[in-house]
Amino acid sequence: MKTFAELDLIAPVQRALADEKYETPTPIQAQTIPAALLRRDVLGCAQTGTGKTAAFALPILNQLGQHNRKAAPNRPFVLALAPTRELAIQIGESFATYGRHLRLRQALVYGGVSQGNQVRALNRGAHILVATPGRLLDLMNQGHIKLDQLDVFVLDEADRMLDMGFLPDLKRIISQLPDQRQSLFFSATMPPKIVDLTHRLLRDPVSVNVTPESTTLEKIEQRVLFVERRGKQALLRTILDTDDVERALVFTKTKRAANMLAEQLVRGGIRATAIHGNKSQAARQRALEAFRRKQVQVLVATDVAARGIDIDRITHVVNYDLPVEPEAYVHRIGRTGRAGAEGIALSFCCAGERRELRAIEQLIGQKVPVDPNQPAPQPREQRPSPSSGERRAGDSHRPSGKKPRSHRPATPGAVDAAGAAAKPKESRRPRRKGRNRGQRVKQTT
Ligand code: AMP
Repeated sequence: MKTFAELDLIAPVQRALADEKYETPTPIQAQTIPAALLRRDVLGCAQTGTGKTAAFALPILNQLGQHNRKAAPNRPFVLALAPTRELAIQIGESFATYGRHLRLRQALVYGGVSQGNQVRALNRGAHILVATPGRLLDLMNQGHIKLDQLDVFVLDEADRMLDMGFLPDLKRIISQLPDQRQSLFFSATMPPKIVDLTHRLLRDPVSVNVTPESTTLEKIEQRVLFVERRGKQALLRTILDTDDVERALVFTKTKRAANMLAEQLVRGGIRATAIHGNKSQAARQRALEAFRRKQVQVLVATDVAARGIDIDRITHVVNYDLPVEPEAYVHRIGRTGRAGAEGIALSFCCAGERRELRAIEQLIGQKVPVDPNQPAPQPREQRPSPSSGERRAGDSHRPSGKKPRSHRPATPGAVDAAGAAAKPKESRRPRRKGRNRGQRVKQTT
């Protein structure tokens, strides 16, 4: 593997990398940067956590630094489009970090806040514009943004953008791009609609597929826990109490469920907060910061809000509700196991979610192992009789060579795959450990 010093990057960019103590490019960087420096279009199949932001930011900064042009008001040279405000902010931070020794200006444009500051930043002239689609189109329609000087277009997390219903906006934006441009396209998954979009957008792209999903998923210990719907909360609390959970990102299906769960956890003495689209931008940033600083142990999120969360060392991802879209499972569990770290992804599956589980297993091409502390799915006639309750059939589903992480007490509300309650009633009450008792912490948002 080459070092950054061997890549053809200008001195101010190299200095910023040295400041960050980056020595070796990640695989996506090693392949994307040389191609992008040659002004080739790039089609990158990669998730967050692979270093993809620097993969596109570094060659862009390199080009801007070499040409040293002045940015005209409202006419950026670079447009990076992201599905969420959080991701846009993170991309902006990356440009600022890697471009700190260059004299460049950037503007950030996203909804949920007033447009005044954004318009002023555009009027002053910004080399780089990082934007979410809705606000971008809004400001384009008002005449605050013209894309006729654009050199480079970046589309990040394209699949998520489509999931969020941005395709019509995206088509409108693409129709305004100048013909002469470089396009860098990134997506974690490549469903047919994305492939179609790449044909519209890219010209003879260099394909970079450094993280086939199976490889990324291999680092993550996945387990499914069969549970009655009403037993999910107690099960989560048991896990938080007994497993070695430093930072858990918990996914619910709805914003309301995210709020309720966070409130209930807080009431039970667990440091938790919720993040979702109904919260103000400031509240979302506060929640993320508290999670990043470990002031809260549990961040309860919906898919949309969690997109683009860039926090290292999330030890556990818990699918409290299974996602309706199987692709979201890959995105969700990709939040743990980042930068080579190991992570644990636990999926709660109640009787009504079997179809979702099957769809996920089909997508990832493997069975999600049953948690070793759970009874395994097995045909009715083979199920152990009550007197043979010691047997843990789920052990046979343990990933090879991997031990279960904990000896969790009997799982509350657990059901086997056939939907039958599997635990005696008294074991349904979660065991509380001393460290959390009475540790009532106010929700931060
Ligand atoms: P990303 O996939 O862009 O969200 O990056 C994931 C994380 O990896 C970020 O926290 C980056 O700061 C970090 N990172 C990116 N490239 C490198 C590198 N070459 N060496 C070390 N860390 C990196």
